[in-house]
Amino acid sequence: MPRYRWETEEHDLFRESLRKFLEKEAVPHYEQWEHDRLIPKSFWKKLGEMGFLCPQVEEKYGGLGLDFSFGVVIEEEMERVGAGLTGVGLHNDIVVPYIEAYGTEEQKKRFLPGCVTGDLITAIAMTEPGTGSDLANIRTTAIKDGDHYIVNGQKTFITNGINTNLALVAVKTDPKAEPKHRGVSLLLIEEGTPGFTKGRKLDKVGMYSQDTAELYFEDCRVPATNLLGEEGKGFKYMMEKLQQERLTVAIGAQTAMEDMLEITLDYVKSREAFGRPVAAFQNTQFKLAELATEAELGKAFLESLIADHLEGKDIVTKVSMAKYWITETARKAAAECMQLHGGYGYMEEYKIARWYRDIPVMSIYAGTNEIMKTIIAKNMGLSGGRKA
Ligand SMILES: Cc1cc2nc3c(=O)[nH]c(=O)nc-3n(C[C@H](O)[C@H](O)[C@H](O)COP(=O)(O)OP(=O)(O)OC[C@H]3O[C@@H](n4cnc5c(N)ncnc54)[C@H](O)[C@@H]3O)c2cc1C
Repeated sequence: MPRYRWETEEHDLFRESLRKFLEKEAVPHYEQWEHDRLIPKSFWKKLGEMGFLCPQVEEKYGGLGLDFSFGVVIEEEMERVGAGLTGVGLHNDIVVPYIEAYGTEEQKKRFLPGCVTGDLITAIAMTEPGTGSDLANIRTTAIKDGDHYIVNGQKTFITNGINTNLALVAVKTDPKAEPKHRGVSLLLIEEGTPGFTKGRKLDKVGMYSQDTAELYFEDCRVPATNLLGEEGKGFKYMMEKLQQERLTVAIGAQTAMEDMLEITLDYVKSREAFGRPVAAFQNTQFKLAELATEAELGKAFLESLIADHLEGKDIVTKVSMAKYWITETARKAAAECMQLHGGYGYMEEYKIARWYRDIPVMSIYAGTNEIMKTIIAKNMGLSGGRKA
């Protein structure tokens, strides 16, 4: 049964082979990766060998030339294993598309093949200790010095921060620009560039296996040829590419919601209290009926949203709605499903416990849900909303 109406037999086969691959190469090791707080680079290489990294990249750069719909399949199958695999989706559908869209031919030839094979693991570094939501206010500077930029500053909460060997970094090339966002540019900074160091692996509440880190730049000399697109256009590029990022977060939350529903249905049917299955209590039935309804609503919304995105339509308002509503609904569902598991729901060996701590961050990253609402309000013509 296809997940979405727009899926073809090709998607089915792709999904099936990815699922089999993950059952062998990810599921048995996932607990260890959670423990290590890191996914080994060897797993990335295996993904690359199988064609599961950046399948959208053009064939001439080593990709399969597929569209984002195959990225959706990858997002969903990874999420079913665990939210700790989010870094792969970030590489495939968030960072690499910047290089595809704004890179020069030389940059594409240099970087894209490695992104497809898994030799290059990308990260995007926008957030700083002093600013996250207000991206125009970043402090990291990149000042031109001949044919280099000298980069100084610090980034934090960077997904793939430990594993990355190619970071796309938001910098201020014109710190005095007014309005401020006009001073923002994007630089591709490679591991090994003198002055670029990685900080500690951050200790998170959940998503353990996804490495999140600080990045430091101290008089870091980056060749000017590593500028992505044009100087001063970085903010515009981010606003464009954040739409697909928000869509992937909504897809992850939807997958989580469906998985939680499935595991909780199984649990309440097998667990007994007062001589009856927990499923027989009206409270259980109502809670799960509500959750199933919300899962259907989320799926229908995503189905049309993904189709619009594939057709290249403007999805800014609707993707902000989907990101906010689906992540919020999944967060509430995690608490309800944990409750229905009783004490076992609080035990690490039950998957619902992991969802409970992995899901809340989805309301925070890729633009907080509050920021999503300011975008929706602004686009409804309400004054005081944030410019989308
Ligand atoms: C696990 C994890 C992974 C991440 N990965 C990355 C990554 O790969 N790359 C990257 O660059 N960043 C990443 N981030 C950072 C993330 O995008 C930011 O944390 C997020 O954008 C919020 O920024 P902040 O933490 O500075 O919060 P703040 O901006 O300080 O916000 C604090 C609170 O104020 C609210 N707020 C702020 N402005 C407004 C407003 N105008 N109206 C109403 N409320 C408002 C926020 O919604 C929030 O509730 C990651 C974060 C986490 C936790």
